Amino acid sequence: MEWDKSATLLLEKVPPFIQKIVREKVETIVRSRGKSIVTEADVVAAREGFMGKSNPQPPKQFINNEKFSILRKYPKYFDKDGNPVLYQIKPCHGAEVNCPFLITDPKILVQKLQNRLKELHFTEKLIDKIKGQILPHHTIKIAISGCPNSCSMPQIKDFGVYAVEPVYVDTETECIGCMKCVKTCREDAVTVNNNEVTIDKEKCVHCGMCARVCPVDSIKPADKKYHVLIGGKVGRHPKFALDLLPEADEATTVKAFEVCVDIILSNKTEQRFRALIEQQGIEEIKKRI
Ligand code: SF4
Ligand code: SF4
Ligand code: SF4
Repeated sequence: MEWDKSATLLLEKVPPFIQKIVREKVETIVRSRGKSIVTEADVVAAREGFMGKSNPQPPKQFINNEKFSILRKYPKYFDKDGNPVLYQIKPCHGAEVNCPFLITDPKILVQKLQNRLKELHFTEKLIDKIKGQILPHHTIKIAISGCPNSCSMPQIKDFGVYAVEPVYVDTETECIGCMKCVKTCREDAVTVNNNEVTIDKEKCVHCGMCARVCPVDSIKPADKKYHVLIGGKVGRHPKFALDLLPEADEATTVKAFEVCVDIILSNKTEQRFRALIEQQGIEEIKKRI
């Protein structure tokens, strides 16, 4: 199928390892419309569909409720039945595109956090708590990434998580000096001298890639974990999220999330989560987990 120049330029901006999948998806859509040339508009429409932004359902309920006079302009804050949903959970697309960096499918944790928000009646309680109009910044933003590359941007969300795969050197298994680990590590964290392997813990980001390429398992992966960050925000005074837990298992991550939700719901003010964290101190929050 032919691609016009603008469409080709857009495709070239897609990361190389998913270009083939994106090309196939776009061409399938264009073909189903009876067209034979892909245009820029086709690529943009396909991208929005892929990101879940297509066909937003307009809110049916709460349409006359003054509290929602601002929020109802944004379909993303309402489910398909028109009920408000005062949280956004954004996973990366690593699992869908067979991303070579993927450590853990982010959708697993997305499902758990979504379930907890429903069980805790987060949306209903937040609606009760906010006295005036509900604004987009009152809602909680969550992002989960399948590896430290953090494509869903957990560093600028209220609650952000990325999967990590710590590694360790197995001194019982002899290194053959192939240097694959050194070439693979983007952080320059691995050194091999006379077949002796060292990993610089300060530089290592726990992506697990060196263990994957080692042909003799001299470097081994430890248990997969989650790195949890809280309090990231954009807006007038943007702030990167703070490290809460560098290596948490799933249960601890969910517990940390519950603590954060409780901090938001139990505070009587309408301050942003970052301000609440700074008042309480992150160390106090850690003690509650
Ligand atoms: S965060 Fe990692 S796993 Fe997810 S899409 Fe990006 S590179 Fe792939
Ligand atoms: S886990 Fe990743 S960052 Fe750490 S040493 Fe291995 S390749 Fe480098
Ligand atoms: S990849 Fe494995 S065998 Fe090769 S140099 Fe690194 S630790 Fe040694």
